[in-house]
Amino acid sequence: MTNTIQLLPDNIANQIAAGEVIQRPASAVKELLENAVDAHATQIQLIVIDAGKTLIQVIDNGKGMSPTDARLCFERHATSKIKKIDDLFHIKTMGFRGEALASIAAVAQVVLKTKQGPDELGTLIEIENSVVQKQEPCATVSGTSISMKNLFFNVPARRNFLKSNATELKVIIDEFVRVAMAFPAVQFSLTHNNQQIFFLESGNLKQRLVQMMGNTIESKLIPVKESTDYVTITGFVGKPDISKKSRGDQYFFVNNRFIKSAYLHHAVMMAFSNLLQPDTFPMYALFIEVNPSHVDINVHPTKQEIKFDDEKIMHHFVQAAVKHALAQYSVMPSLDFSLDAPIQQLDAFQKPFTQQQQQATQQSNIYQGFTRSGQAHFIEPTTKSNFTHWDNFLDTTRSSQPTAEQPWQQTIPINNTEDVSTQSVVQILNTYIVAKRSYGFLLINQQLAHERILFEKFQTLAQKTTAPTQQVLFPVVVELSATDAVLLQELLPYLKAIGYTLTAQKPTQYLVEGVPADLPEGNEKHTIELLLEQMKHHSADLQISRQEKLYRSLARQQAKKNGTILSTTEMKELVAQLFQCYLPHVSPSGSPTYVEFREDYLDKLFVQ
Ligand code: ADP
Ligand code: MG
Repeated sequence: MTNTIQLLPDNIANQIAAGEVIQRPASAVKELLENAVDAHATQIQLIVIDAGKTLIQVIDNGKGMSPTDARLCFERHATSKIKKIDDLFHIKTMGFRGEALASIAAVAQVVLKTKQGPDELGTLIEIENSVVQKQEPCATVSGTSISMKNLFFNVPARRNFLKSNATELKVIIDEFVRVAMAFPAVQFSLTHNNQQIFFLESGNLKQRLVQMMGNTIESKLIPVKESTDYVTITGFVGKPDISKKSRGDQYFFVNNRFIKSAYLHHAVMMAFSNLLQPDTFPMYALFIEVNPSHVDINVHPTKQEIKFDDEKIMHHFVQAAVKHALAQYSVMPSLDFSLDAPIQQLDAFQKPFTQQQQQATQQSNIYQGFTRSGQAHFIEPTTKSNFTHWDNFLDTTRSSQPTAEQPWQQTIPINNTEDVSTQSVVQILNTYIVAKRSYGFLLINQQLAHERILFEKFQTLAQKTTAPTQQVLFPVVVELSATDAVLLQELLPYLKAIGYTLTAQKPTQYLVEGVPADLPEGNEKHTIELLLEQMKHHSADLQISRQEKLYRSLARQQAKKNGTILSTTEMKELVAQLFQCYLPHVSPSGSPTYVEFREDYLDKLFVQ
């Protein structure tokens, strides 16, 4: 009998384990910076030589370590951050696995100097290849300094694997920026080859973003702030005009830890959907706080992915919060879709919402959905709220007087044309509605406006448990190819949600028996076929965007077309409904729905 199993010597085991945690200089930077933050440092210095290949040093003024802890911290699974398994579910610190320093000591030459505040002397430890070379008391300032020299000196295969200095430095800067962004109250500096790259004063998040991205972004930051019992989001999004062709300024943090999430990025993109030039990415730095028990902490700490226990809610929440922020700061109309420069200068396009409008926003469903405690699951869709853009659009000299308690609530009920009957409307070219206002007039594109109205109507209906449906007089049969039938099957819930009644007679044959109330009857077959055709070219894997696309297509199909003569009543109704929309300014596909002509602008046209 021969036994062949041997235990690996500690230093080899540590080297293997280290490979997981320390893959490149930037990984060490991240771990050391996070340790400094966990130690409650208020000043953290990062010093790097040769992109970290020669030296990475982090000096902090945090709480320091006792001589015993200084020795222990290099042991694997040595951590002061969890004491019992339950702690794992409430972990608030950045690190907790007790692996980083052990890993660093396994693959580099490390010098640690540390001292706790009240102590007279600190501790010096030199360790390499997991073997302590020296431990002695030393005179040093309070806090901790860890130098890590010659990374991978003992693992040449890994050292050769490192990229150019330019690349490694870029990754180091990325890590530095993420930590510095998450902790704006802490002063950070970064020096590379004796050149200072960053010196970031302690401040608030906005100041930190400006310090990192430059003064020009200061006026471009829109605050995001929403909270429920379940989740809180704070941070900033950049106005659409500073969006860039390249990615890079997109930051998500969950419980102050940087994460990458295509899913949440998508949520932000949806919120911006109509506001961006094609292929551009908005800037954002968003901080999500959730009870750690809602987050899967088993995800490896060096990975930046995350799993929430309810991904859908997160998506919805992030999207709604960003939309809310954009609407509140009146970003929508300040966009240049194709408007002339002078129009851009008008107050309505430049100024943030007034106090009144902000109050109105707080009356909105979405806002209340957020703030109602424990009700995150009932966040209202971002449609058809009381977001009153009315202040801008109502002819206040003529509208009925608002009540004293709700001075901002000047909404005009849908389908009640009485309230707008005093507003003059005229159709020109069978396409545009000119709506008179005390300050000038609006030029509204009837088809685009109607698309917006229908789109939001579908979205609202989809949120209700049962949408009103009208039985069609003559049910029509739709025959489909096998692939179309599969697609329709997937779309059925969304169609049903807005009032379509479709019954499968055979797998490839459907009977259309009901259509959404108020939609014109007839053409059901054509509608379904056209929808399927449009949906085929939709590859996004997310349900929510597929639903949105469906409603957009349907809105486009059903909208009153340009070239159609409208009665005065129809026009008034259309105008009233448009301004009850959540985003009246843009069509679902991003075109402006109307252009505003104010007196001062008109006057300017006639000045030589
Ligand atoms: P973890 O951060 O996961 O606990 P580390 O290996 O990164 O594991 O650090 C081990 C322990 O060493 C920490 O739990 C902490 O007690 C101590 N430590 C590390 N860095 C510092 C520091 N800069 N200041 C004070 N204590 C530190
Ligand atoms: Mg750590």
